[in-house]
Amino acid sequence: MRKMKIKQNDKVMIISGKDKTKIGKVVKIFKSKDKVLVEGLNKIKRHVKPNPYKQEQGGIKEMEAPVHVSNLRLVCDACTNPTRPGYRLTDDGEKVRYCKKCDENF
Ligand SMILES: [Zn+2]
Repeated sequence: MRKMKIKQNDKVMIISGKDKTKIGKVVKIFKSKDKVLVEGLNKIKRHVKPNPYKQEQGGIKEMEAPVHVSNLRLVCDACTNPTRPGYRLTDDGEKVRYCKKCDENF
């Protein structure tokens, strides 16, 4: 089974579709589906019916749709490049993720 390397609050770049090359922050992860919700990206328009009980107006509402992880690249905080992360152990034996481009932990 492939392990998902993306975590909440990670920065990711979308590499396909209409938001290609745009960068956003991961706000939610759907582990079973290998999908994540990226803040402000991959927006879809959805028609919403008015709901008087919730005092909601009907109309077209824009919302983010989950993006499959295969369409994302992690973005390194330090060098701001999309990267494939590596993993290594610190002197304390803690596992950390690092950027293979600039060698910084992120
Ligand atoms: Zn980097």
